[in-house]
Amino acid sequence: MTIRLKSEKEIEILKEGGRRHAEILRLLAEMVEPGVSTLALEEEALALVKAGGDKPAHLGYTPAGAKRPFPAALCISINDEIVHGIPNETPKVLKQGDVVAIDLSVIHQGLFTDSAITVPVGAVDDEARELLKATKRALEAGIAAAKPGNHTGDIGFAISKVVSETRFSLAEDLVGHGLGYALHEEPYVPNVGRKGEGEKLVPGMVLAIEPMVNAGRGGIRQMKDGYTIKTRDGSRSAHFEHTVAITEKGNIVLTLDK
Ligand code: MG
Repeated sequence: MTIRLKSEKEIEILKEGGRRHAEILRLLAEMVEPGVSTLALEEEALALVKAGGDKPAHLGYTPAGAKRPFPAALCISINDEIVHGIPNETPKVLKQGDVVAIDLSVIHQGLFTDSAITVPVGAVDDEARELLKATKRALEAGIAAAKPGNHTGDIGFAISKVVSETRFSLAEDLVGHGLGYALHEEPYVPNVGRKGEGEKLVPGMVLAIEPMVNAGRGGIRQMKDGYTIKTRDGSRSAHFEHTVAITEKGNIVLTLDK
């Protein structure tokens, strides 16, 4: 396995990219309300990324095994869509009570950040509120375990421990990843793991930590568009993601809006 460590200078660039990234996600979250279309969010995201002189990394990206490039800057995944929903081919209009996951990747000065948030549309029910809270808590626990000396398995252990204390389930087989020079690099970052297993974390590693939590069971299914992944049981799902740099002292969350 080749893990490419980033220099302190590169982490500074990633920090600036991540700050811009988080600001864009915040502005998109503020747009979310009943009646807004996924296409409007996509167009706003494209305009905001380009206004900063940066590039959207998902647009035109062909992941391993995919038959065609992803057609948009954002992945927008509503309700039972877990990840990789396409916002612009058959746009959808957000409805009161929906939960909408917005996943953006940004290239700033050649370096990649990846971050996602899940936003309630208007007033949502208790289950949706709890699902979003639990997923956020799982991400926070994963980030707290991302420190030198720990392993990728410690991150997965921390995330799955939080989710196991709820009535919800982690989406099967979906994981986080290394990134920086590209959108997806080694190592993979599991959402379920054992302490001390996996890759050892060292300063200079940059990781996307991203629990995806289903309100029902963990099963997933791939849709015919080649990208959208839904829950198998039709339950709703939430996704929160940050890009994190491992440092000597612990970590820095790069995708924060400061
Ligand atoms: Mg990611």
